[in-house]
Amino acid sequence: MLPVVVVHGGAGIVPRERSEKSTSGVCSAARAAYAILQGGGSSMDAVVEAVIQLEKNPTFNAGCGSVLNAKGDVEMDALVMDGKTLSSGAVSAVRYIANPIQLARLVMEETSHACLTAEGANQFAQAMGVPEIPQESLITEYSRMRWIKNLAPGANPVESQMGKMGTVGAVAVDSEGNISCATSTGGMLNKMEGRVGDTSCIGSGGYADNNLGAVSTTGAGEAIMKVTLARLILFHMERGQSVEAASDLGLAYMKSRVGGLGGVVTVDPQGHWAARFSSLQMVWAAAQKDTLHYGLYTGEHFTQSIDDQH
Ligand code: ASP
Repeated sequence: MLPVVVVHGGAGIVPRERSEKSTSGVCSAARAAYAILQGGGSSMDAVVEAVIQLEKNPTFNAGCGSVLNAKGDVEMDALVMDGKTLSSGAVSAVRYIANPIQLARLVMEETSHACLTAEGANQFAQAMGVPEIPQESLITEYSRMRWIKNLAPGANPVESQMGKMGTVGAVAVDSEGNISCATSTGGMLNKMEGRVGDTSCIGSGGYADNNLGAVSTTGAGEAIMKVTLARLILFHMERGQSVEAASDLGLAYMKSRVGGLGGVVTVDPQGHWAARFSSLQMVWAAAQKDTLHYGLYTGEHFTQSIDDQH
């Protein structure tokens, strides 16, 4: 069953014209991560590579393509967690960098802290030699269009977020049985300046523990934080539930208890995996035993050989 990687590209509704790009984006990210695992690489290297690819891809709400806050600026959140040591690293409300997930990893590896925010995160990026890039290079025509639409009186950015797919994440188990997760986002459309959601919060945006498994989440951040969705799912797995049942239980609780919709990718130490969501869609891809699995709508599950690019 090992190694395995599962990637998501956000819970919500993908506009038809973007569905192909979203699917091919997660599939190529899963392929790249799987190649690392097959070469004997670590699950941490694999999940970070998958997320870097998706941050670079303007189709997704992470890195380039991030949604804009109420002022029209990009503020990004990201989290990594290492299931062997339970070390984690996160950045929140960070600006002017291409790959927040790399900075989150540096927080984990190079500091004694678990999260750096806003200017402090940017100062750390500078100290680590991470290049600062102009904000314009993170903003797409599509994200600016969505921002303007949501400035209109009577607009509902939270609801409209469900139409803007895109937070990205990955979980993986490597051939040594080490488990990792990574999640990255531009956050919620037209959010208040300084708003930080679930993504960078350990236990909410993701969690990894070699003894239990790993989860990366997406969806309504404020709801995810209320139920600490990632850790809630691992709690159900701890009590003997399968990856699929535990994911569904966590998502169902979030929906019934606080009215939140979302999606998750989940693995256990044996390499069982699940991609589950309560939103209408979540684009996802998984790679295991030289097979690529992917889907977008509820119940959809396509497979192809990992070497087949079409
Ligand atoms: N969970 C993300 C946030 O609230 C958004 C998303 O997953 O679409 O920042």
